[in-house]
Amino acid sequence: MSLNKAPRNNVFYRNQNWMYPRIERGEGIYLIGENGKRYIDGCSGSAVANIGHGNKEIAQFTKEHIERIAFTHLSRWTVDSIEKCAKRIASWCPEGLSHVYFVSGGSEATETAMKMARQYFVERDGKTNKWKIISKWNSYHGATLGSLSMTGTIGRRKIYDPLLASFPKISQFYHYRNPWGAKSLEETSILAAKELEMEILSQGQDNVAAFISEPVVGSAAPGCHPEKIYFDMVREICDKYDILFIMDEVMAGSGRTGKKMASDHFQAKPDILVVAKGLSSGYTPIGAAVCTTEVFETIMVKGSGNFIHGHTYAGNPLSCGIADKVMEIIERENYIENCAIQGEYLINKLDELYKYPIVGDIRGKGLMIGIEFVKDKETKEPFDSSVNVKGKITLNCLEEGLVPYPGGGSVDGVRGDHILLAPPINITREEVDLLYEKLETAIKKLSEQLF
Ligand code: PMP
Repeated sequence: MSLNKAPRNNVFYRNQNWMYPRIERGEGIYLIGENGKRYIDGCSGSAVANIGHGNKEIAQFTKEHIERIAFTHLSRWTVDSIEKCAKRIASWCPEGLSHVYFVSGGSEATETAMKMARQYFVERDGKTNKWKIISKWNSYHGATLGSLSMTGTIGRRKIYDPLLASFPKISQFYHYRNPWGAKSLEETSILAAKELEMEILSQGQDNVAAFISEPVVGSAAPGCHPEKIYFDMVREICDKYDILFIMDEVMAGSGRTGKKMASDHFQAKPDILVVAKGLSSGYTPIGAAVCTTEVFETIMVKGSGNFIHGHTYAGNPLSCGIADKVMEIIERENYIENCAIQGEYLINKLDELYKYPIVGDIRGKGLMIGIEFVKDKETKEPFDSSVNVKGKITLNCLEEGLVPYPGGGSVDGVRGDHILLAPPINITREEVDLLYEKLETAIKKLSEQLF
């Protein structure tokens, strides 16, 4: 296998990096290449394929649903699968989040939340100045221009900067690289939350509509999370300054962290919560923005009754049916409990990797675990992006038959390199052991290559 960057077909994708073999099919936690090689899907695509590949129950359900109805437009019709799915999503969300707006993916979901927050204040008291969304550096909220405006990953923003809304950014709860020299995660959490208040004061509360945060960071600083106090303080600050709190659970939601929603780890109480990815386990594109009765009624009952937004595939009956079925399977098979158990087992086992000089930090919740690689453990100095650590670790893993989710390095050189581990949440203990074995071999080899 080589790092051949030349396109090998006419599929136009962001990163034409064809070091990966063509995939023939999937089976449980495995992806099977056309060469017959089996790969543990160590990242479920990008924390998507939560219940694994080739699920027969989903296949049967999909066939029957397609035979029954192809499509209805949500502006006029509803179908039982849409209603069932909305009800189940609300039951998975923290208390008070009850109204589900369907979309087709994560970026659409965060963009929807952003527009909901904007319209909420216009409808409630005509506050047209209240439009800014405060977000964080080292965050990812999507690729569309609205969601990218909230994203704090420099490498993804740079080229589009002139097209982006000027939303303010504060520091992430990135304890390993926290800018305050904080010694504990609690201290980082408190100082990061305090920045929110300072930023609101500096922008003026009448100009800020919402604050958006991931509960556990995905691609931008994988596995980073705060302590509960962070979200307690965020809630308090948002209430004090009349600002909505949006929780981006696109990656961390849907059982991925060993709770239905990652907000549950912190008893966080957002006004709007967004989900996608694992919601349908990748069997179909779907996402949702879920809001409180207060937000819903302000726009839809007391206000104009018209949320000025909408995509053709919002509430696609098949997608809703599949997502509902996925959640039903997760509930029935206790996969969330399994995720918590295997996640704890894996993160404890990963501690052994600190013996390698390049392993700087390991953090995460459930089966959403980040490993950060550094050139110097003492100083935390990252490798130069030209070393292509993320390419090398990916290749080493692929050779072992493991697929990680690589990040950093050439994407955003200031951050260093990392991988995200997020295997299907129904992974067994034996499969976790196998994943670990393959990963350790790949990291050992990487250490030898770099030193
Ligand atoms: N928010 C978060 C936290 C994400 O991880 C992602 C995708 N990586 C998105 C939003 C955007 O989702 P999508 O790629 O489905 O548009």
